[in-house]
Amino acid sequence: MTKFATRVENVSISGIREVFEAAGDEAINLGLGQPDFPTPAHARRAAVEAIESGQTDAYTSNKGTPQLREAIAAKYDRDYGIEVDPGNTIATSGGSEALHLALEAHVDPNQEVIFPDPGFVSYDALTRIAGGTPKPVSLRDDLTLDPAAVEDAITEETAAVIVNSPANPTGAVQSEADMREFARIADEHDVLCISDEVYEHIVFDGEHHSPLKFAETDNVVVVSACSKTYSMTGWRLGWLVGSGDRIERMLRVHQYVQACASAPAQFAAEAALTGPQEPVAEMVGSFEERRDVVVDGLEDAGLEVPTPSGAFYAMPKVPEGWCDEVLDRGVVVVPGEAFGSNGEGYARLSYATGMEELKEALEIIDNATAAVR
Ligand code: PLP
Repeated sequence: MTKFATRVENVSISGIREVFEAAGDEAINLGLGQPDFPTPAHARRAAVEAIESGQTDAYTSNKGTPQLREAIAAKYDRDYGIEVDPGNTIATSGGSEALHLALEAHVDPNQEVIFPDPGFVSYDALTRIAGGTPKPVSLRDDLTLDPAAVEDAITEETAAVIVNSPANPTGAVQSEADMREFARIADEHDVLCISDEVYEHIVFDGEHHSPLKFAETDNVVVVSACSKTYSMTGWRLGWLVGSGDRIERMLRVHQYVQACASAPAQFAAEAALTGPQEPVAEMVGSFEERRDVVVDGLEDAGLEVPTPSGAFYAMPKVPEGWCDEVLDRGVVVVPGEAFGSNGEGYARLSYATGMEELKEALEIIDNATAAVR
């Protein structure tokens, strides 16, 4: 008889995939969580040159190449004035592996992990895979995470709090005051704050703030990646930043499950981080134009939607049956409940899709909304 580990039995395949599979080839896909831009040419070239010159044939250091870790550390100083020792970073296989390592290294069986609901699908699943207990916390009306709600949810069993700004699935950006609060909570309650910053550069209103800057203890670990910023989701390259002790524990897991991040991807990432940043600014400019069109279109259709300040998602409140109606008419969206039980009554729309398709989709959404009202 085949037997499976309970902590894996308690995890299901992401609801997002089911939506894709239900959609026909002709559908307009507003379900995707990846930018529709090419990886910057200088990053692709750097990988090709590294491959051609035989630099990618061997394992790199478990933590990643020294040059990439220098580039990651330098980025924090350049972007936020945060001093990071390159030794306190690990290059990972995407932000996904970084989240996995952070939870594996810090959560004991049955300890609790607090995270936003609706929130990124991996938080619940990776908590369970680490043997922990998910503790989802509902959001404010503007879909940001309230530090007071997080503080209320902390118990003796809390191992970690996951904060995600800009957020998937809401596009919400936490204020500097909130991030200071998350840092204070991590310090005062002695719990780990895992700050998922994979959308850090895709911000339209205000600025990204990292709790790493505000914490007085080493209770913040940052997860980020090239995936969204440089349109490199397929390269699988992310990283962790944390104190020496925490990095050393996460390295213990990383070295056995992964050995090292893909070498070609590390060369591409180094070039992406140190090279010209104009492609990022251009992409963010396009996302902002699309954000405005999407918010206007949803409001014109009579839907209530907090204006997303970052990432490339909008999360309107939708009437019952709306997602099915929209899908039947050929537009793929993800029902909010895929992101947690508080997501019910919402839908996530990704606008990482060309403007013409977006406008067509918004017209279909307008008609579908009228039909289900
Ligand atoms: N964190 C959030 C909030 C995400 O939306 C994603 C991907 O969708 C990830 C982490 C994982 O990113 P990566 O593709 O780098 O593994």
